[in-house]
Amino acid sequence: MPIASPGRLGWKTHNLLIRLPSVTPSLIVGGMSASDPPRNLLDFSRRFTSEETCQEYLFAVRYPSGFICPKCGVKRGWFLKDKRLVECPNGHKVSLTAGTVMHRTKQNLVTWFHAAYFLTTLTPGISALQFQRQMGLSRYETAFNMLHKLRAALVAPGRDPLDGEVEVDEGYIGGEEEGRPGRGALTKALVVCAVELVRWTAKKSGKARVRTGRVRLRVIPDASAVSLVPFVKESVKTGAIVYTDGWSSYSTLGRKGYDHRPVVQGRGKSAKYMPHVHRIIANLKTWLKGTHHGRVKEKHLQAYLNEYTFRFNRRFWRGF
Ligand SMILES: [Zn+2]
Repeated sequence: MPIASPGRLGWKTHNLLIRLPSVTPSLIVGGMSASDPPRNLLDFSRRFTSEETCQEYLFAVRYPSGFICPKCGVKRGWFLKDKRLVECPNGHKVSLTAGTVMHRTKQNLVTWFHAAYFLTTLTPGISALQFQRQMGLSRYETAFNMLHKLRAALVAPGRDPLDGEVEVDEGYIGGEEEGRPGRGALTKALVVCAVELVRWTAKKSGKARVRTGRVRLRVIPDASAVSLVPFVKESVKTGAIVYTDGWSSYSTLGRKGYDHRPVVQGRGKSAKYMPHVHRIIANLKTWLKGTHHGRVKEKHLQAYLNEYTFRFNRRFWRGF
């Protein structure tokens, strides 16, 4: 289910792309989901033209083997038009959007589906202003709230912790040098980042190389051990090698079961000091400034970090 909140159904982008079955909206028949992802926006828009086609899609994802009423077990039901509900012969009404960010919203499903499409397929993402214009929404707030709900749902629960070798460091996001001062601009916020290092050997030269693997990001109130250590424990597998700077808050990591290796900062421009984690924080700042024009409020920053994490961890994945 693509537009699900984390607690219920997780997030799988490719599920959004399951081919719509050709069913009569008033009669539900089971056994319908073939994998045939839309090739592009036009293809996507052709499939999801109406509230009904979106409802049919949600139905097909939720009941891939056919409808079973969760209250009485009857295997028959029909759509109640415009209500996003399926009703069984015994009068039980089952919501098609329960557990998703679309639940109990006034916005139509076609717009929701397109928001999810833009958010997950455009490489740099989309700003609320761009989305408002593209979909012809009258209010900026509507566009913002839709994207924000989707953003908050982007990181799936129960993700595997980072493993192997991991760099961890904090950095400030926002402030006067980032974004624009004044209303809506982000004041300085502290963010901690953990990134996996993946070692590989170049085929041609045979040289040992390092690239970045998966990433985790969190807004933290300060750089105390109370803020930093739980982040590492929740993001990194016990026993992994953890590189940090010499900051005292990290000093207990060795006792928590990590192979903690504090890195001493080198001198001069050529010193390569935890370059991967620093590049990620720098790119995050660029992305916030570029796609979102630096207009990110601190209370929303974690949702943007979730979106960035989602993009980063799928950057080699071009599934459609
Ligand atoms: Zn029933």
